[in-house]
Amino acid sequence: MTIEKIVGEIEKIKRIYPNNLMARFFNANNFSNLSEDDKYRLMRIINTGIKNPTSEMGAYAMYVDDYEKFSFQLDPMIRDFHNIPAEHPISQTNDWDTTKARCDLGEIDPSLKKTSMRVRVARNISSFPLPGAMDKSQRIDFEKLAVLAFDRLADNPDFGGKYLSITPGTANTISNQEYKNRVASHQMFKDMSADKYLNAANISAHWPFGRGMYISQKEDFIIWVGEEDHLRIMAMQTGGNLNSLFERLHTGLKFVGDLLPPFAISPKYGAIASCPTNLGAGMRASLHIKLPNLCADDPKLERIGNEAKKLGLAVRGASGEHSGAGEGGLVDISPSARLGVTQMQIMQTLYDGVAALWKLEKSSAIRE
Ligand code: ADP
Ligand code: MG
Repeated sequence: MTIEKIVGEIEKIKRIYPNNLMARFFNANNFSNLSEDDKYRLMRIINTGIKNPTSEMGAYAMYVDDYEKFSFQLDPMIRDFHNIPAEHPISQTNDWDTTKARCDLGEIDPSLKKTSMRVRVARNISSFPLPGAMDKSQRIDFEKLAVLAFDRLADNPDFGGKYLSITPGTANTISNQEYKNRVASHQMFKDMSADKYLNAANISAHWPFGRGMYISQKEDFIIWVGEEDHLRIMAMQTGGNLNSLFERLHTGLKFVGDLLPPFAISPKYGAIASCPTNLGAGMRASLHIKLPNLCADDPKLERIGNEAKKLGLAVRGASGEHSGAGEGGLVDISPSARLGVTQMQIMQTLYDGVAALWKLEKSSAIRE
């Protein structure tokens, strides 16, 4: 397709799919002023939103400097998604001080102590292209670099564990059955080659080379290698104590950060991530929670999604993004904003939002 045709295609998407942020903020004038090389670079970034008009964001960065370089296209999308008003600069401040608040789900309802809690951050290493622009040997080299760090992490008394690779033929490669079991237990990521959004951005290319996960012996600290970002670092726990979950991640993140080359971090955008939705704290803190009343007769989770949105939350299905509710109305609830909010604000938004949704669930007010 010629550039003119692609621009026409984007203008069409803008009319038909107003929620596609890439198309909504695409400016043909700005685009035409770019050099031929930069036109090509920007096209690679926004290809996923063109190929998938129903995208909500519709862009994946390919290189760490894409955000600065193409800020005229990406900043308005970022502001819209993360809810940053025009009069505020885009910027990221961090605050991991969990002593400031007490977020114990058991205080909302004792039954919520059983809730599965997960908090992850996206991190990328500055010396590699982002996953959408990596060739096969870079993916393999990146995994080798990560394994060197994990070899050292494995000796740590608190975070010791093992690395499970799905790259064919390595010393750490696991069986297909073990891979499937780890996906079913929500520890490992799904087959990316089945994801049309990632495919259009080349993020899933060379699957499954360069992919794997580190898991601590207690199975509460996990690091994904080679998914949508170079690394997804996460803590997973039950017990209802969000403070302890966040502390676990923070301590582990500091250890891992010291074992690896520097992460790509910008004062403006925070942690650089492939997807603009994951900038800033790069953090998604989620609860797997059963809300049968709120999910009743709502296979696409639209009604509960609208309620959650008012509380700054997003709803995903029980198997992650683009999945449906699980048994008993099991859904994944997480704060949407990740940039311009501190880690502690994310924890508080999750806690307050879930308290409100729980009340709604118990009163079933949404159904009347
Ligand atoms: P992310 O994009 O934040 O990494 P995904 O939506 O891709 O998350 O989901 C990744 C996996 O994590 C899926 O298996 C999902 O069900 C699982 N997951 C998310 N939140 C929780 C949670 N609170 N408890 C258990 N598993 C979770
Ligand atoms: Mg994901």
